[in-house]
Amino acid sequence: MKKDTKKAIALLSLVGTLGGYFFGANALNSLTFQMSPRIEKSQVEEIIEREKTKQGFDKNIEVRFNNVGINRAKKEDGRYVIMINERDLTRATVTHEAYHIVDGHVESYNRPLYFLMWEPKTAAYTFVDEMKRKLN
Ligand SMILES: [Zn+2]
Repeated sequence: MKKDTKKAIALLSLVGTLGGYFFGANALNSLTFQMSPRIEKSQVEEIIEREKTKQGFDKNIEVRFNNVGINRAKKEDGRYVIMINERDLTRATVTHEAYHIVDGHVESYNRPLYFLMWEPKTAAYTFVDEMKRKLN
C-alpha cells in the first residue's frame, strides 16, 4: 500500500472514531430525554438547585425559555445562562444543561473539548441520573 493511502486510511478511521463517539453521546441524549418526564416551568429552579448543591456551585444560573429549538448552557458577560426550548422541557434536559455549568464546561469555549469530553460526560451523567431516579 502507498504511504499516502495508509495516511488517508489512518485519518479516516480517526475521524470515524471521533464522529462515532460524538454520535453515541447524541444517541444517548435522545434516549435519556425521551424517557425523562415532562416538567412544568415552575419545577426548573428545583432541578437546577439540586445540581448546584451536588457540585457545590453557588453562583446564580439564569433560565431563558424559547420556542426556537435551542437548548444550551453558556456564560455570558460573567453570568451563567441556561436556554431551554419549552417543547423540550423535561427533567433530563434541565439536568443536562445545569450539569454543563456546575461541572465547569462553559468557563471557556473549547470546541474539541466540548465534542470529545464535555458532551459525552454530560450525556453519561444525565443518563445515569435518570436511571437512578427511575429506580428509586
Ligand atoms: Zn450538552
